[in-house]
Amino acid sequence: MNLILMGLPGAGKGTQAERIVEKYQIPHISTGDMFRLAIKEGTELGKKAKAFMDQGELVPDEVTIGIVKERLSMDDCQKGFLLDGFPRTVAQAEALENLLTEMNESLDYVLHVNVPQEQLVERLTGRRICPKCGSTYHVLYNPPKEEGLCDKDGAELIQRKDDTPETVQKRLEVNLEQSQPMLYFYRDKGYLFTINGDQDIDQVFQDIDSKLGELSK
Ligand SMILES: [Zn+2]
Repeated sequence: MNLILMGLPGAGKGTQAERIVEKYQIPHISTGDMFRLAIKEGTELGKKAKAFMDQGELVPDEVTIGIVKERLSMDDCQKGFLLDGFPRTVAQAEALENLLTEMNESLDYVLHVNVPQEQLVERLTGRRICPKCGSTYHVLYNPPKEEGLCDKDGAELIQRKDDTPETVQKRLEVNLEQSQPMLYFYRDKGYLFTINGDQDIDQVFQDIDSKLGELSK
């Protein structure tokens, strides 16, 4: 089962990834983890990637693709994989297609967890943090017992600068602009499966699960 998971920040990808991985016993491969592993193992490509990162530069596609190839060739990927955060561009998506063909594999689905932007803004701006103990709350989904105050120490909760409506809006727009061409690319290839992410977490997973269930038939 070869899968890619896509969705904007706040769409609930993390939770769904956990459930997919648990049920289908495939590894969840995020870009960050993949790079960290290559660097930790000290592979040639890991060293190259690190050199770029240390300079504060973007890792070039050929290095990134090489690292993806190393990762997908590992034993734990025999039953498949769930890629998260890669590919990021159509060029990377095309390179992944070639790589999979080379490995005699192909994608099954690109799962796109879709949540309306207004809803995402609501989710992402509702976060509150205790400056004293670091506890996190959400005004809608996980509110403190007393509004604006930490349950543990009574400190006044704050909103991080990253969570203000302007910053959130901008982050979403950048992400949307980046991911839209890939959604079209995968739609045209027939891999795209869009899930309504604006519903209960269990229901979202059920929708994914019934689609994936078709593969094992
Ligand atoms: Zn606190």
